[in-house]
Amino acid sequence: MFSKDDNCPDQQLTAILRQELIRQRTKLEMIASENFVSEAVLRVGASVFTNKYAEGYPDNRYYGGCEYADELEALTQARVRKIFGCEHVNVQPHCGSSANMAAFFSVLSPGDGILGMSLSHGGHLTHGAQVSFSGRLFKTEFYGVREDTELIDYDEVLAKAEKARPKMIIAGGSAYPRTIDFNKFKEIADRVKAYLLVDMAHFAGLVAAGLFPSPVPVADIVTTTTHKTLRGPRGGLILCRKSLAKAVDDQIFPGIQGGPLMHIIAAKAAALGEALEPEFIDYQRQVLKNAQRLAVHLADSGYRLVSGGTDTHLLLIDLRTQNMTGQEAEIALDKAGITANKNAVPFERQNYTVTSGLRLGSAALTTRGLVERDMDQVAEFIVESLRHYEDDSYLRKIRQRVEEFTLRFPLYPNFDF
Ligand SMILES: *Cc1c(COP(=O)(O)O)cnc(C)c1O
Repeated sequence: MFSKDDNCPDQQLTAILRQELIRQRTKLEMIASENFVSEAVLRVGASVFTNKYAEGYPDNRYYGGCEYADELEALTQARVRKIFGCEHVNVQPHCGSSANMAAFFSVLSPGDGILGMSLSHGGHLTHGAQVSFSGRLFKTEFYGVREDTELIDYDEVLAKAEKARPKMIIAGGSAYPRTIDFNKFKEIADRVKAYLLVDMAHFAGLVAAGLFPSPVPVADIVTTTTHKTLRGPRGGLILCRKSLAKAVDDQIFPGIQGGPLMHIIAAKAAALGEALEPEFIDYQRQVLKNAQRLAVHLADSGYRLVSGGTDTHLLLIDLRTQNMTGQEAEIALDKAGITANKNAVPFERQNYTVTSGLRLGSAALTTRGLVERDMDQVAEFIVESLRHYEDDSYLRKIRQRVEEFTLRFPLYPNFDF
C-alpha cells in the first residue's frame, strides 16, 4: 500500500493494485469469509519484518537477529491467550488450512479415522473432503444436518462416531449459520475416546467478543483463520492445552511450514490489539444485528433461509424455491456490484460448480459502517437483482446505484496507488 504522496515506479503493477482498490471501494462485499482490515493492520502487514527469517520459536531460533521477532511473536501469543483464554497458541500458520493440517498431524497418523461435517451441509474442504489432504490421508466419515430443522443432528454425530470410532471429531464449518453445542460434541468425543477439534475460522471474532460460545475450554484443539470475523491479515492460529503444545508446534515447524511470515504475525498482533478494545465488541454486535436484519428482509421478500435464519454473521439462501441456481445468483449479483458466492445447501442435487445456494455475510459491510437501515437497502439491491437476474441492462442500473451507495461508506480514504 502506498500513500497518496508516494510514487510507485512499477506502472503495470500499480494499475492492478489500483483496480483492486477501486473494486473493493465500489462494490458491496458480502462474501462471508471476507472482511476489511484496518489501515493499521494493512501498514503493519507491509512492514520490514517481511525481510526476516525466524524459523523456530521465541528464544529457540535457527537464525541470528531474531531478538525483535521473538518479542513480536511473544506479544502476539500473549494477545491470543488474553482474548481466548487458551493455555497455548501457535501464531505461525500461514492460513486456516495449514493450521488444520498441523493440528491433524499433531495427534493423528495417516490412515486414522476422522469424522467431520459434510461439505454440502456446511463443513470445510479440510474436514475430510477427498480433494483435500484431509480426505487423502485419513479415513473420513461425515455427519450433517437434519432434513427438517437443518440443524446439526447430534444423534447422527453420536451414531456415526460409535460406528466409525474416529480418532478425531471436527466441529465448525464454513456455511453453517447457527450456534454449535461444543459440550455435546465433547461428550460424544469422550464416549468414543476421540480428540475434539473445533475449527472456529468463521466465527472466531464472535467468540472473541463473547457473542458465540467459546470452544476453547471444551475442545482439545481449536484452529482458526485470522482474516474472517476476527478481521486480521490472512493467516491462521492453533490454540490448545499445554499438554499438546509441543506436538502442535513441531507440526507447524518443521512439520509442514518453513519460516514464519513475521510481517503477517505483526499484522495479527495489530488486529488482536484491536480485538482487545471495547469497540470490537460493538462491531461484532453490529455484525450480528446486520445479519439478522438482512435475514428478516430476505425472508419477508420470499426467500428461504437454510435453518430459517442465523445466529452468526452468515446466512445461506436456498434458491431451489426460486428456480434459480447459486451460480446464476452469484453472476447476477456480481453484475449489480454485489460480491457473494454460490454455495451448496444441505441435501444438494446440483454439482458444486452450480449449487442451489447463495451464502451471504455481514462482517465486511459492517466494517464499512453499514447499520440496520443500510442493510434494508442492501437487501433491496439483492432482491431486485435476483428478480431481474437475466436482464443485464437492469443489473447495470443497479450497479450504478450500488456504486453511489458505497460512496457513503469510504474505504481506506488515506490510501491510493
Ligand atoms: C476459511 C476456512 C478454512 C481455511 O482457511 P484458509 O485460510 O483459506 O486456508 C478452514 N476452515 C474453515 C471452517 C474455514 O471456513
